[in-house]
Amino acid sequence: MLPRRPAARDYHPTMRRWSETAEAIGATSRTSVKVTTLAAYLATLDRDVLPPAATFMTGRAFPERDQRTTGLGWSALGRVAEEIANAPDGALGAAYDRSSDLGQAVGDLLAEAGHEPAGTPPTVPEVAAAFTAIAEARGPAAKSAVLRELLARCDPLTARYVAKILSGELRIGLREGHLEAAIAAAFGRQTEDVQWAGMLTGDLGHTAELARDDALADAELTLFRPLKSMLAHPAADEAEVIERLGTPVWVEDKYDGIRAQLHRAGGTVRLYSRDLNDVSDQFPEVIRAAAPLSWDGILDGEVLGWRDGTAIPFLRLQSRLGRKEPSAEIQAAVPVIYVAFDVLALGAGNGAPIEPLLRLPLRERRSSLEALDLAATPGFGIAQLDSAPDEEVLRAVFAASQQRGNEGLMVKDPDSIYSPGRRGYGWLKLKRPLTTLDCVVVGVELGHGKRHGVLSDYTFAVRDDRPGADGKLVTIGKAYSGLTDAEIAEMTRWFEAHTIRQFGRYRLVEPSVVVEIAFDVIHRSNRHASGYAMRFPRIVQIRTDKGPDEIDVLSTVATLHDQLQEGGRYRVLTAGT
Ligand code: AMP
Repeated sequence: MLPRRPAARDYHPTMRRWSETAEAIGATSRTSVKVTTLAAYLATLDRDVLPPAATFMTGRAFPERDQRTTGLGWSALGRVAEEIANAPDGALGAAYDRSSDLGQAVGDLLAEAGHEPAGTPPTVPEVAAAFTAIAEARGPAAKSAVLRELLARCDPLTARYVAKILSGELRIGLREGHLEAAIAAAFGRQTEDVQWAGMLTGDLGHTAELARDDALADAELTLFRPLKSMLAHPAADEAEVIERLGTPVWVEDKYDGIRAQLHRAGGTVRLYSRDLNDVSDQFPEVIRAAAPLSWDGILDGEVLGWRDGTAIPFLRLQSRLGRKEPSAEIQAAVPVIYVAFDVLALGAGNGAPIEPLLRLPLRERRSSLEALDLAATPGFGIAQLDSAPDEEVLRAVFAASQQRGNEGLMVKDPDSIYSPGRRGYGWLKLKRPLTTLDCVVVGVELGHGKRHGVLSDYTFAVRDDRPGADGKLVTIGKAYSGLTDAEIAEMTRWFEAHTIRQFGRYRLVEPSVVVEIAFDVIHRSNRHASGYAMRFPRIVQIRTDKGPDEIDVLSTVATLHDQLQEGGRYRVLTAGT
């Protein structure tokens, strides 16, 4: 008879063994060693241990498609660790300053306190059950009580990894692709089959179970379980687009709205955000508009602010973000439509089976999408599509979209499949040249992760040129350095030598270093003294050729803000709502 599981001495369901495996994976930079180490571990696990063990290796307490969170903040985690270590308030903060890694800090605190675990060491399923109990517990006190009981049973190494998972910062250099490869290797399956099942289920723990049981083909796409969105790769110019995709290419406007996946079965409709959260309550008009549809399935598209055939700028739409059950006034002030650009699964309705369309080429998915006649459905639209047969036509389409004030174009290969969560080359984005501002660095802060010992986070300012402001510096943003490690090291030394005042991790520095900052848009905000903030600021370069008296001024910021405020004019096929 074949053994049902490896010999008992190989069977280690403890969280300690999981943590040692994670530690070994983090200790090597070689991908092949990471994968073989993980595969060897996964292969030894029993039925109830494998799914949570694989899920934890994604750095999450729950599977990705699962919308639960533990709801436990970093400060609660820190307080529990201090209690168990009998350490004074603030001890965790000090440990954190040394490593900039919460898990490491928790482990260090327990190790320094000589913490002796109480009771039996927790197994992986017990840790998973504790995470569930924390998610279900109401209020910080009840959540902390469950965590206290769990951490008290952990040795410092295990506690470190429990805290890393809870804080969502595993940091062992293990990418999802490595985990998929390890699952395939552990059970003798094809990596592509594991990836496909992972995409459909959004759950690598369950996928590992299917791989083990030789049942990857049974993975199913399930309505109301959001899939990860396909992402686009940036392209530098039209020539690169044609070089990568060949001809013809398909071109759509790049809508500045909110990416959303619409799932529908019978009378039930839900919308999911790009990070897989259910945002149906935020856009009740989309849910209502979907009621008369007759098919079941999944659409990919964008929620767009829209009035009288014209897009409403993203910044106004943003005011609706995060607001559940928006009032009638808000719905009237910023009306939205759902603009579909893809269909991922479809069934005829009335309980007919749903077919995944992900592996069909875009040209076939687009035909299915057009057949749904959304352009004639109030509250819905579909992306207008152009086909560009060569680089010259693409150039003209791009120029026309810029004329309309758009941020850019999405260019798609009509033969590409839909790859959830991948930033592949099937879709490219072509954006207008970046707008940049020259600012001066006024504050610096210690970074995180591999930047934990260096001053890599910069706060920068422009000059206030309004009458009476005397040209004083006003902050406008904060960005992580886009500089090389060598440049950061050099700048760190310079900032240390030119610190005016230090407040913990933050230093006020002499305003001399000019940085060129790129960003997507500018909006009004009380966060910074200038009254403006940038969306996605990033450092392009240090302008060693410029001094602080040559930086940009507040009136330039105001002009840019007004220009960008207008928003684009998109082409959407609609019934005219
Ligand atoms: P980015 O956010 O700059 O990486 O650009 C990708 C995003 O553009 C996607 O996540 C979508 O939210 C958005 N997008 C806008 N228009 C389209 C379109 N026609 N096709 C696909 N994605 C689009």
